[in-house]
Formats: sequence, structure tokens, C-alpha cells
Amino acid sequence: MMNRTGLVYDPLYLQHDTGSHPERAERLVRILNLLQEDGIYERLTQIAPRPATIDEIGMAHAPGYIEKVRSFAERGGGTFTEDTAGSTETYRAALLAAGGVLAAIDALMDGKIENAFALVRPPGHHATPAAGMGFCFFNNVAVGARYAIQKYGLKRVLIVDWDVHHGNGTEAVFYSDPAVLYFSVHRSYIYPGTGWPENIGEEDGKGFNINVPLPAGTGNRGYEQVFSRILQPVALSYQPELVLISAGQDAHHLDPLGGMSLTERGYRKMTEQVLEIAGKCCNGRAVAALEGGYSLEGLSKSVLAIISAMEGRPFPGVEDNFVNKTCQFARVQEIIGTVSGILGRYWPVLI
Ligand SMILES: [Zn+2]
Repeated sequence: MMNRTGLVYDPLYLQHDTGSHPERAERLVRILNLLQEDGIYERLTQIAPRPATIDEIGMAHAPGYIEKVRSFAERGGGTFTEDTAGSTETYRAALLAAGGVLAAIDALMDGKIENAFALVRPPGHHATPAAGMGFCFFNNVAVGARYAIQKYGLKRVLIVDWDVHHGNGTEAVFYSDPAVLYFSVHRSYIYPGTGWPENIGEEDGKGFNINVPLPAGTGNRGYEQVFSRILQPVALSYQPELVLISAGQDAHHLDPLGGMSLTERGYRKMTEQVLEIAGKCCNGRAVAALEGGYSLEGLSKSVLAIISAMEGRPFPGVEDNFVNKTCQFARVQEIIGTVSGILGRYWPVLI
């Protein structure tokens, strides 16, 4: 069988030292261990990341901000913002994290692989053009989308962000840009407090920013409905030429921060739903980049489920024995109605 799925990883990602912070190097170590134990690791096409250039990071960030991250690391790191910490290697790791997404995009566009998972840190989706926050420095997926547009002349890139937190940084980068359709499903009323259905984009970008805030406790079935009733119809109308996933696994039921009820089977299903879009629109081209996920067990099992879906193999995980009693299914139906009502004038398929 062809190794159609790539894996981006580099040990430098472990050198972004955040101390006892939940977003810590051990996350990647645990994922790698499980991939190796499972045997899937051997089948993946290894993709070596390269550092993104200043100009490439500059496609999503202000020059002064990039310099701020560089000098923060040069001074030895410490506390970058209230919730975001780093070390002397943070700048180099952040350049290599964004560059890992770029290397994956190059491998896809060259036809070497069909899809890839970028096992990178620091994460990116909270990083706005001029500010780092929420454990993020450079917005890896946003830089990737701009790079694909600039280097390969793409006109439509879809970003699916299933991290339990709203990707306020990604939204900010593309808010007036119709070349990127940003779709975020997240839990409402938690950090960073943004991501409402009314925030649909501005100017030419109106209708190209889709927020689906969900109640605490939402489980597999609720997410599956949001993907089949909003994401899939809209994305098939949009016809993306590349799909990027901000893959945060902090909506897993074991996550200490997320408060949602997804299981690894839920992550696998969402992956299949996104890959179905990519299969119909762009030869299956999809890159997932790691964002959050703070239960080492929930995170690693979810990433294994995601990558096994990307590889097109049967799910190797154990049976889910987690029974979600408050999956919020009725409330999710209402939210789907609200979002469809707001976006129907831009996406008639939702009416
Ligand atoms: Zn998150």
C-alpha cells in the first residue's frame, strides 16, 4: 500500500520549554509513543520540516511582532503574555512549527503524499497578526494558507478548526479575505470568548467566516451533525483547492480544560467528514496541524484515530466505553438552525 499519509515532526518542537504549563513537550512524546506502539508510525511518510522564513511568517504577522518573539527568546524566554510562556528555543521552534505546515503543503502539492499530520508545537490558532496569546506565537495554519495561495496560486483554501477553543487569531487574519473559508466549531463561553455566529467576516470576506459555538458537554453526535449539516454543504459549494485542519483535541471527554464529550471515534468521524470534502474537491489534499489537547491519553488516542482515518485504514483503537449522557443533541440542532439562518444569504445550500 502506498504511504499516502505524511507525518511532520522534529525534536526541536520539544525544546519550546513551557515548564509545568499544560501545553508542554510531553504531549508530543506521548503521541509519538502511541503511534510507534500501534505500528502506524512505520507506515507514515516522514516529512522533515524547515524553518519558515521571516517573509513567510510575515504573510500572517506584523514585522514588529515577529521581532518581539525573536527578542523574547533571545532574552531567555519566560512569560510572554499572561497565559503564554516560552524559552530560549521558542522562536526557532515556532519558525519550525509554521515551516512544518509549509513542508507538508509542498509535499502534497508535489504529489508525494495525499494528506499529512503536522505534529508541531507551539500551537498557532490564537496568534493574531500582532499578538501571541493562548499558548500560541505564530499562527501555523494561517501562514500555511497564505503560503499555499501565494506559492501555488490557489484561490480557495478551507480551514476547519475543531479545537475546543475559538481560533480568534485565524479569524482575525482572514476576516476580510474570501480566499480562505474559516470554519470553527468550539465551546461557547470559554477562552478566548470570541467566535459568535454573527461574526461572518467583513468586506469581501463576508460569509467566509463561520462560527459554530456549542454548549458544554457536546458529544460525537452533535459534532457529526454540525459537520454534515453546515460544514459539508458549504464546503462543497465553496470547492476548496486545499483543506487545512486546526486539529486541537481538547474537546475529548478526558481533557482537563475542554468540558466537551468527544471520544476518539468522534475525532475519527470528523476527520472522515473533512476528508470527504477534500476527496470531492481537491484530490484529497488535507493537512492537519496540532493545536490543543491537554489530556495525554485523550490527545494521543485522538491523534491516532485522526491519522488512521487519513491513512484510510480501519480504526485500530479500543471500543469506546464512554457513554455520553449529556450530549446536548437538541441544543445543537437549535444552533445549527441559528447559524444556517445567519449564513443562508451567502450559502443558499443552508436554506
Ligand atoms: Zn484549545
